[in-house]
This record gives sequence, C-alpha cells and structure tokens, in this order.
Amino acid sequence: DGGFNDALLDGLNPRQREAVEYRGSALLIIAGAGSGKTSVLTRRIAGLLQSREAWPSQILAITFTNKAAAEMRERVGALVGQQAEGMWISTFHSACVRILRREAENFGFTKSFTIYDSADSRALIKRIIKELDADTFGFTVSQASGKISKLKNELMDVESYARGANFNDPNEVMFLEIFRRYTQELARANAFDFDDLIGQTVYLFRAFPQVAALYQRRFRHLLVDEYQDTNHAQYALIRELTKPVKQGDLPLDLQGKGSLEPASLTVVGDSDQSIYAFRGADIRNIVEFERDFPRSKTILLEQNYRSTQNILDAANAVISNNFDRKDKKLFTTIGAGEKITGFTGYSGHDEAQFVADEITKLRDEGIAYKDIAVFYRTNAQTRALEEIFIRSALPYRVLGGTKFYERAEIKDAMAYLITVANPADPLALRRIMNTPKRGIGPATETALQSWADDHDVSLREAMRHADELGLGPKVTGAILGLTAALDEVQLTVDTAKPSDILAELLKKSGYVEALRASRDPQDEARAENVEELLAVTKEFSKNNPEGTLLDFLTEVSLVAAADDLDDTSGTVSLMTLHTAKGLEYEAVFLTGVEEDLLPHRMSANEPGGPAEERRLFYVGITRARQRLYLSLAMTRAQFGDVNVAMPSRYLQEIPADLIDWKQSPGMANSRGGTQPRALNARRDGSSWGTSLREAAGLPPAPVREKTVWASEVTGKVRDNGDLTLAAGDRIRHTDFGEGRVMEVTGEGAKRVAAVQFDTAGRKRLLIKIAPIEKL
Ligand code: ATP
Ligand code: MG
Repeated sequence: DGGFNDALLDGLNPRQREAVEYRGSALLIIAGAGSGKTSVLTRRIAGLLQSREAWPSQILAITFTNKAAAEMRERVGALVGQQAEGMWISTFHSACVRILRREAENFGFTKSFTIYDSADSRALIKRIIKELDADTFGFTVSQASGKISKLKNELMDVESYARGANFNDPNEVMFLEIFRRYTQELARANAFDFDDLIGQTVYLFRAFPQVAALYQRRFRHLLVDEYQDTNHAQYALIRELTKPVKQGDLPLDLQGKGSLEPASLTVVGDSDQSIYAFRGADIRNIVEFERDFPRSKTILLEQNYRSTQNILDAANAVISNNFDRKDKKLFTTIGAGEKITGFTGYSGHDEAQFVADEITKLRDEGIAYKDIAVFYRTNAQTRALEEIFIRSALPYRVLGGTKFYERAEIKDAMAYLITVANPADPLALRRIMNTPKRGIGPATETALQSWADDHDVSLREAMRHADELGLGPKVTGAILGLTAALDEVQLTVDTAKPSDILAELLKKSGYVEALRASRDPQDEARAENVEELLAVTKEFSKNNPEGTLLDFLTEVSLVAAADDLDDTSGTVSLMTLHTAKGLEYEAVFLTGVEEDLLPHRMSANEPGGPAEERRLFYVGITRARQRLYLSLAMTRAQFGDVNVAMPSRYLQEIPADLIDWKQSPGMANSRGGTQPRALNARRDGSSWGTSLREAAGLPPAPVREKTVWASEVTGKVRDNGDLTLAAGDRIRHTDFGEGRVMEVTGEGAKRVAAVQFDTAGRKRLLIKIAPIEKL
C-alpha cells in the first residue's frame, strides 16, 4: 500500500505486519502478553491516517484506561503528527460520556448530568435499603449494588428483570423494589452511575435509530484493546456501532453522502489475561468473535518482545494449568536472562524490607525507580510496604490507592461544584448542606425532603421555600443564605473558569475558612488538599482554555486507577495486579504470593475463581522485562490479626530451576537450600503452619484462629493487657517514636488508638498488641 511509509512497518514481524496492513470488515488479533497487540493496534490507526483511508474523526479507539488512551494518542502522534489530536481514543466510559453529553436530552436527562462513582451509588442504595427496611430481609449494600451492577452489565433494566422475577419470593420482590427506586432516584437526580454510561448509550442507540445512524456513519473504524475484558453491555455497544447505516435514518442533508457500509472492527485480546469476570467480563466475546462477525480474519502473534525467556517459561508453565484454553507458547529472542528471585519473609515487614533492599541494589545497577513496580493482590498490603519505603527514603507512589478524589474534603469541594452544575442532584446537595456546620441538621433535611416529595420538586427547589416550612428563624436564614450563594454562582457555570467557580464557592460557603479556624491539626492538611484541588482546576484551564465546569467534572469522574501514572516521575510504582494490566517494567516485584491472597480467599470457592486468579498471576509475571521477584511472608497481618500464611499453590507450578530462592535474613536457622523448607514441607503432607514456624525458628506457639499472638514487627509475643489510653496521652512506639493519642475507638481486644506521631505521621494502632508504652 503506497500510503505507508517505512517507519510504520519498521521492525515488525511478518504477522504483525499483516495485522497492520489487513483491510477487511473485522479483524481479531489474539495473542499472549507482550507480543505487540497494543503496538499493532496503534500502528493500524497510524496506517489508516497516513494512507488517508480515514480522517481522524472517523476513528474510535477504545483502551482500558485513560492513561492507556493518552499513551496511544502520543504514540499515534509520533507516527503521524498533529492529526492524532482530533481522534476519539478513549475508554468505553469516556466515549459514552461524550455521546451522552450530546444526546441524553433525547430521553429526559440534561447534558449536565452527574456521574455517580461507586461510593455515590452505594450511598444511594444504602439510603434506599434503610427507607424500605430492606436490611430486615438480609439485604446488604454490597449485595444489592453488586447485583444491580451485574444486571446492568447484562443490559437488564427493572422491567426486563421483573418479567423473569419470581413474585412468590419476598426477597426477590424486595430486590426489585430496591432496583426500581434506585433507577428512579438516579433519573430524578439527572445522574448516571458508572454502569449506566455504557448501558444507557446502548439504550440510546437502540431506541433512537436516527441517533445511532449518525454515529454508525461517523465512525468508520472501531479498534478495541483488551477485548477479553469487555462485558456484555460493551459488546452490545460495539455491535450497535458496527451495524450498516440505514439511509432513511439519516438526516436529509447527510443522505446519499458517505458510505453506508458497516464500520470496520479490529479487536485485540488475550483470553489468558481475562481478569474481570467478577465484573461481568465475558471471555466468550473473544471465543465467539468469528461467529459474530462471519467475514472476520484472525491473526495470532506468538513472539514476545517484552520479557526474558526465564520469565516467559514461568508464565507459560503457570497458565498451562488452566483448562479450557487454546495452548499457545510465548517465545522470545531476548535470551534466558536472570533467574527469577524468590524470597520468603518472616512477616509482611520483612518482605517489604527485602523489596526495599533489592530496589536499592537495582538502582545501583542502573535501573531507574520509574522502571520498577511492586504489585500486590489487595490494597491492604501497601501499609507494610509504605512504612518500609518511607523509612528507607525510597521515592514511591501508590497507583489507585486512597485516591486524592476519595478524600472527604475533596469530595466536599467537588459536591459544591456538582451542586451548581446539576441542581437536580440531591446527593451532592445533602453532602454540603451542613458542611461547614451551619445548623441545618438531619431533622431539617428530612423536613425539606418531604416538602420536596410532596410538591414533586427537587431538594434544591424545596430549599428556596424554606420559609414556608415553619422552621426556626436561624435555620431558615441559613438555608436561604446557602441557596442564594449557590444560585449566584450557578449563573456563571457555563461561562466562568472552573477555578473561579470553585474559588467563589469556597469563599461564599466558608468551607476553607472553617477548616483553617479548626483546632484539629488534620484540618490544616485538609485545607491544603482543597488548595491543591484549586491548583488542579487551574491546571485544567491551562490545558483546556475553553474547558467548562462540566468538562472538568467529566474528566475528574473518569480518572481510573492507572491514570495516576506518570512515567517521568522517578518513583517506584506500587499497584494492585488488576491495575498492572497492559503495563510493563524493567523490574517487577510480585509480593504476597500466598494462599488467601493469591488466590484470594474470596475467590477460592467461586466457580472459575482460582483459574481467574491464576490469570491474574500470569498478568503480573508478564509485566516484567528483565527482572522478576516473587515474594511471600510467613505471617501476614490483616484486619488487626496476625495469621500464619502459606505459599501460593501457583508457586509450585513454576519449574524449580527457574527460581533462585533467598532465605529471609531475619530467619534464625538460615539454610542455603534452593527453596524455603516450607515448600518442600507441603509435599510431605505436613501442615504449612507448623513447618513455616519451624523453618523460621519460631517456638511452636499456639496459633489460634483470629487471635492476635504477636507483634508483626518484632515477631515477639506481645500483650499490653489492659493498657488504658485516652485522647491526649503521650506514648512511645518502638518504630515510630513518640506521639500523641488523638482518639480511641473500639472495645476490648479490638481497641484502636489513632496516634499523631511527632515525626512518623498519623497511625492507627491496635492497643493490645502494638509495641507501645505510655509516657
Ligand atoms: P499485553 O498483553 O501485556 O497488553 P501487548 O501484546 O499489548 O502486551 P505491547 O505492549 O504492544 O504488547 O508490546 C510489548 C513490548 O514489545 C513493547 O515494549 C513494544 O514496544 C515491544 N514490541 C512490540 N512489537 C515489537 C517488534 N516487532 N520489535 C520490537 N519490539 C516490539
Ligand atoms: Mg497491550
């Protein structure tokens, strides 16, 4: 094809080249990790632009995170220049928000709809469960929200679910009522939850063929990365967008112009990396691709360009234990490389210390911090890692941890913004009504809400009628004052810069002032965070001079975990295995390779659970280019308890000669063996716990389930008995030094002290076992 220049096909292997050059209605590229799927997708886009087969506006490329989208845009940009800018490269969610902002008015929403994140939608469900007394039926928020999310991912709405419901089952009737109210409340609030973004776009296309036709005609090329993790709703969306355009559905001025052929579709994926089945992702989307798109072509890639052969051998060995998969073996020409390093720590801290020490060594070998990542299965594992990293002065960042936008003060400030952008949203309004405190208590809120319900208006509207409710003069004044302030700022939402709107709201509401005036030292930090948000809005306006408040809110609500990533940052990246998908690093530490963590306890008994966890382990291994470390701990602190941990079953699946085991430096009787004795012990059939403790030189302590028996830091049995602490007491901790008790919560053995240490920051300690003394 004469339109392609050499750079585009440079260095590609023949199969990759074929995948870039193929022109047909549907293409499936299916291949293992690191074989260049994402690279090929990027080059296909560049090829389409370069050969002028497509305008940038005719391409819709879907990635799994906004970060990946930005990266792809950059790579396309490097290949074809400025053209890349007008293109839709985004996540499913971002693409759908853009479509809905333009089209939601077709079905009763406005363009300023709010996007409820999972915390928001849980808050709403919690409220509904309470109102319906549904908890007496045993409904928990998690169950109800999990089930609603699942149904939405399957494109079931209340009516379709009701059609198949068993009305003799009171539980089902109750669930239906929760689902119905939830849907109603969202619509009243002019809000979509995360699942709706996809589901409602599908609904839009199905219910409004004239709208669908516009997008079917516009997008001539659809490209989807990580196709193995698409759920049914996302699949349906792809189907809608790849239908032939119906001439009659187009507006008159577009009829007879442009192609009516269905858009071409390219999907890339790896069924071995499907890790979102728990969220409704369906491997069948890949398996049945050839059936769904009969004229499709499939291209397989087998050469891996990322990892050494040792790393690939480990990955191949592990994944081959999954049944029901097409066998494919990855190979590389990079060479065997170093062996994998295995390490068995004595505790989570010991393991973290090993990771920190090895990172320092890698750094001395010339590997930059930004090329090193530490993975874990659960967020709780970061605590030990962070403590040791701080102590070792290692620069690090946690991707998708307690995110900036999840902090209470940031949510408060965001709620002010949402309230003026979308006055119909009662959730945001409730959040700020009495924040800072202005005397509008729960009873007043309830009175306002029932007035709103009685008059069928929004909560915000009810506030304007506060003087008709017979409330006290002070409260009435507070409500009307707040309403006036919000109304005034609201006039500027379409024109003013987001930073000016935020500054105005913070000033008028007295929010920052209240934080600054507070005597709680934490409030000073909170005020600074709010200042930081102000800086974020300014940064946004710099990058998007035309950006409105709505644009800003959209951007913020779509930040995904991996989006915190900043490759130039010179820090070690810490993240969960789920977040790691699609990324690559020179050196990877996969920590907590233990039973109950990997596979996770929750998934061990689920059908397909252990296989999905194995794929997660496979994803983790295959992120590494040169160096891979697998580590575990013999004891693991969780939920205030210290439990004996067992090596993960998956470790046994890696051929022993690929791993170079190092003993824990903290172990008393260190042996130079190739594996920790614990691993051999399992083959004897003896219990893990006993052997592990023995191997560690620990006394055969009576390990009782769920009983705290040791301080995880020192390994010594510690019991502070009935040590009584109260707010204001000064204490000394063996690791963190001196500090002041801020608050004591819980009872008996579960009493927890929140301590502000003089130098080590704020920590929560289990009083009974923490290595502390009262001063
Ligand atoms: P994953 O399954 O993890 O998403 P992937 O199949 O998408 O992986 P890429 O991320 O596209 O793989 O590529 C892996 C690495 O290999 C990247 O660093 C990429 O630049 C490199 N690569 C891909 N193809 C080639 C090639 N033909 N020659 C050299 N390097 C290549
Ligand atoms: Mg990829």
